[in-house]
Amino acid sequence: MIVFEDVVKTYQDKQVVNHLNLTIASGEFFVLVGPSGSGKTTILKMINRLTQQTHGKILIDNKDVASTNTTILRRHIGYVLQNIALFPNLTISQNAGILLEANGVKRSQRQQLVKILLDKVGLPYEQYGTRMPRELSGGEQQRVGIVRALITKPEIILMDEPFSALDPLSRKQLQDLILSLYQEFRPTIVFVTHDMQEALRLGSKIGVLVNGELQQVGKPQTIINQPANAVVSSLFNNQRITLIADLLEAGLGQKITTDVSVEGPHLKSTQTLQELAAMLYRHDSAIIDQQYIINQRHLLMYISKY
Ligand code: ADP
Ligand code: MG
Repeated sequence: MIVFEDVVKTYQDKQVVNHLNLTIASGEFFVLVGPSGSGKTTILKMINRLTQQTHGKILIDNKDVASTNTTILRRHIGYVLQNIALFPNLTISQNAGILLEANGVKRSQRQQLVKILLDKVGLPYEQYGTRMPRELSGGEQQRVGIVRALITKPEIILMDEPFSALDPLSRKQLQDLILSLYQEFRPTIVFVTHDMQEALRLGSKIGVLVNGELQQVGKPQTIINQPANAVVSSLFNNQRITLIADLLEAGLGQKITTDVSVEGPHLKSTQTLQELAAMLYRHDSAIIDQQYIINQRHLLMYISKY
């Protein structure tokens, strides 16, 4: 659990984080979303002490980060940035396993873990292990960055706009990847983005930050349906997106009961209608929030009501 208690950050005399009180539960996929310059990176960096707050306290599992040795602190916190800096003169395997090496894990065990994880993120070890970073695309390099952060099994992973520099297709693929890794390893993730749609897609909880001020914290659906104020509602309305949740609210979809056969890909109700359509183009039906089935017919009925 990560707790911010009345945290203020001031640069010179400019206050960029304003009395932040926030609790991020263990195992949460927490997305901090807000316009550029709102203080997201600053908040993230205070967690692993790359930046120190001017006032207030940050606790991880009830321990004040200010009194935790930074080396020990960072050993338990993975960090993924927008432009991952891989070491250009080390191979992909070496880059992926570098933190294991720093932690004194033996070579054979390192190789084993690197292989498992590279395979898992779609960079087969045999094909990619001995390549150099410059021989990888941006999206592939980000995958290595994710492996590097995950490989020590940190309890917390901080991600600062990790997919913002990627083309839409790679971004979508990496969003899917991080969701599936999250399901498997269940770390606490604090993910920063300025992209509302990405926030809705990934977050189990979302915090909306504007000008250093936390506007609202809630589940994606709550942020959409019950925005705390005009600032939040305008941020998300500007997206003009229809969510799968809108379709469920219109009474479409079928609740899963024991006598309904459940097959098909899984989606969240906070994903968009467009994403649903893309799925239903390839599958007869999709499972929403593990609770509902939506099929091609439901989708067409919804659209035909326009
Ligand atoms: P975000 O990640 O949401 O874009 P940042 O946390 O990077 O926002 O920045 C918040 C504000 O703090 C911005 O106005 C930025 O210019 C300012 N800022 C960030 N880092 C520094 C710094 N080292 N010195 C002075 N001002 C800074
Ligand atoms: Mg930033």
